[in-house]
Amino acid sequence: EQEYIKKRIAIFGSTGSIGKQALDVIEKNPDKFSVEVLTAYSNDQLLIEQALVYNPNIVVIGDENKYGNVKEALAKTDVKVFAGEDALEEVAGMDVYDLMLAAIVGFAGFRPTIKAIENGKAIALANKETLVVAGDIVMNMAVENRVPVIPVDSEHSAIFQCLIGETRNRIEKIYLTASGGPFIGRKPNYLVNVKREHALQHPNWEMGAKISIDSATLMNKGLEMIEAKWLFNLKPSQIEVLIHPQSAIHSMVQFEDGSIKAQIGLPDMRLPIQYAMAFPNRIRNDHPRFDFKRMNTFTFEEPDLKTFRNLALAIEALETGGNLPCIMNAANEIAVYAFLKNRIGFLEMTDVIEKVMGQVDYIQKPTLNDYFESDAEARTLAADIIKL
Ligand code: NAD
Ligand code: MG
Repeated sequence: EQEYIKKRIAIFGSTGSIGKQALDVIEKNPDKFSVEVLTAYSNDQLLIEQALVYNPNIVVIGDENKYGNVKEALAKTDVKVFAGEDALEEVAGMDVYDLMLAAIVGFAGFRPTIKAIENGKAIALANKETLVVAGDIVMNMAVENRVPVIPVDSEHSAIFQCLIGETRNRIEKIYLTASGGPFIGRKPNYLVNVKREHALQHPNWEMGAKISIDSATLMNKGLEMIEAKWLFNLKPSQIEVLIHPQSAIHSMVQFEDGSIKAQIGLPDMRLPIQYAMAFPNRIRNDHPRFDFKRMNTFTFEEPDLKTFRNLALAIEALETGGNLPCIMNAANEIAVYAFLKNRIGFLEMTDVIEKVMGQVDYIQKPTLNDYFESDAEARTLAADIIKL
């Protein structure tokens, strides 16, 4: 058995799907990890429960109205309680942890994540929106601060794993696999009527609401193309999406000699989570194993960009660059929440994103401040279009 120094983990977004699975990994590996920071936005009850079980140094509740509840419930413990969005950033800047699991959903995760990078902390990155919005700035910051950014997204974890030992070898292209979501093969005349309950049912993964909708529209794969561009320093033409409904091959890398490496496994986010937290080590687990005799057919097809137009818009944003991915991401966040509240239909999400992308001023080399402004402008415009 290998000896490990306990890594002190800060889970930003501990009450979410990724956060809960990370706690599960930590619970099974108490000799390798300790929980130092837990954060939630509004789920104070779960945050309290988690704090009582895992006894972190600090908890942060984003919603300040819930501060009293959390403080009172943890009064008999020595857990420090902070509240508010600024506190998320402040705690990210403290020297109480070694690795941040960035598992907040959406652009809300951006500030704490860049604070952690400035603070020299390793990042296990689930929050793909951070790279979609400002991947250039984030990756430059990471290099300057000598901070590893290790992907948690299963596709990117797959590519990352395929690249181990290949630092001197150039990537010819990557294949980003996609399950296709719950509406694979469907056409617009069907999609026009689908409701949130239907869209939230993903065939292979159980995830938070926002990413579930993004998976149903294929926007998730578009966000992942942009995420891959920044993580692996790729040109748009080197990134190909393949629909692979079995979700067994989590993604592939093709090298200059034509050789292709794939990472394969059952769809279970605990694997990429534990890989990112324990990197460069692998740790043993008792998860079910892949069985080639039971799952003996792998199929691949091209995505239907005419039906799933969000993916086409994301490809446009990827190719255009500048602040367009940021604008697209902001409009998408607003559109997805409006769809989840039954305010707009499934296909209308695309119309909102497309309009906003055409209306916010394009900036080719945005500064950090430009990104914040483009994000805010795109959100306001999207909300206006939807009449929120
Ligand atoms: P989720 O909705 O289940 O959880 C989100 C977490 O973020 C919660 O803890 C919530 O309290 C917190 N949060 C939400 N809004 C916040 C705000 N404004 N300020 C502070 N905290 C806030 O989401 P999830 O499915 O766990 O996804 C988290 C991130 O991981 C997303 O970026 C998603 O794209 C990415 N991801 C998730 C999966 C998955 O299987 N769930 C897979 C790959 C990538
Ligand atoms: Mg993914």
